Amino acid sequence: QSLPRTVSAELGVPTVHRTVTDYANFDHGATTPALVSVAEAVRTTERRYGSVHRGAGYASRVTTAWFEAARAEVASFVGARPGDEVVFTRNTTDALRLLAHCLPQNTQVFAWESAHHAALLPWPEERTTRLPVPGSAEHAVRLLREALRHTDAEHTLVVITGACNVTGEIWPVAELSAVARKFGARTVLDAAQYAPHVPLDIDALDVDWVAFSGHKLYAPYGAGVLAGRRDWLDAADPYLPAGGATIRVRRERTDWQTGPARHEGGTPNATGAIAIAAACAALRANRATIEAHEAQLYARLSAGLSAIDGVRIVSALGDRPNVGVVTFTVEGYDPSLVSQVLADEHAIAVRDGRFCAHLLCDAIVGDGASAVRASLGLATTGEHVDRLITGVRRLVEDGPALSYVRTEEGWSA
Ligand code: PMP
Repeated sequence: QSLPRTVSAELGVPTVHRTVTDYANFDHGATTPALVSVAEAVRTTERRYGSVHRGAGYASRVTTAWFEAARAEVASFVGARPGDEVVFTRNTTDALRLLAHCLPQNTQVFAWESAHHAALLPWPEERTTRLPVPGSAEHAVRLLREALRHTDAEHTLVVITGACNVTGEIWPVAELSAVARKFGARTVLDAAQYAPHVPLDIDALDVDWVAFSGHKLYAPYGAGVLAGRRDWLDAADPYLPAGGATIRVRRERTDWQTGPARHEGGTPNATGAIAIAAACAALRANRATIEAHEAQLYARLSAGLSAIDGVRIVSALGDRPNVGVVTFTVEGYDPSLVSQVLADEHAIAVRDGRFCAHLLCDAIVGDGASAVRASLGLATTGEHVDRLITGVRRLVEDGPALSYVRTEEGWSA
């Protein structure tokens, strides 16, 4: 049946019988809406900021204090050990690239092919060992043990995914870091999908570094974090050789800062850092509520979708705790059409594609194949979950309500 169609001028999103406030966002895995406390922190900062670490004026001193307080809040959020440091970056991609820049010569890197491209690609190709997509958590541990047993590199780094951006599965981080430790390897945790949902404690997990993005943590775009051990970072050339990273520039030589300033050249994104810290504080204060909310909605979503004939939920590790992501295919429908139908007919935002994890999608979705990802978060409600299940069920049982044609930009109703 044909329903009245409204178009939101604000979002440019065509919807059927739904207002924008009803829009069900199932794309938290891509990016998250700012929390109210984060938006307030940003507004307060914007109202009176001054140059960070570069001015004697009042606004400059206040902003510098906020910026450094943000660093301390992030250190608490990640469970930093004494001597660990927090470097503000642009995002997870940038944080992992920074660590890649700091690798001692001849470091051998180990990464599973299931990693997000940001965690798979920044390392020197000739010194990276790619482990195959594992079929279970135990398999992942076994693959790592075997690989490390056969390496004699002086330095080794293992790249661990906290939670998979395609399947939402939480990786056995502590088990993997224990294996790495046993063989003298260092570890970095890609916590882009993990940090928004699971308490992060790099001390307890015994990982050396962690990377995550503000914009997946209910803060705005443009700021991320690399936190962890200082030694490799202090020994490396500055990532952004510029103002703020220097102690003294002479004609014959430049003396560089150590600590975070070494790699934070240029005027820092203080607003972004303050926003991340506000998000960290809010998440830390509400962990139990968040976990209960997301666990309940995830159970409802995965049970509802898996009960629909023709829906296949993709998984790599099998029976694992999940951060609230269900990625699926619908028999007979192109994933991009599924997401268009959900958007146009049910005011639901999901993502379709290969999620910057091509090797993983090849292995668990199909060679060259894409899928639909529904990722929930703090703004998700039970009604949203039911709407998504109903939307997919209607598509399977009745087909699309509107007629769609494929255009260069995708599907159009
Ligand atoms: N790692 C994972 C697991 C991710 O999901 C993402 C974002 N999709 C990234 C890294 C990269 O994050 P960003 O785009 O913020 O750099």
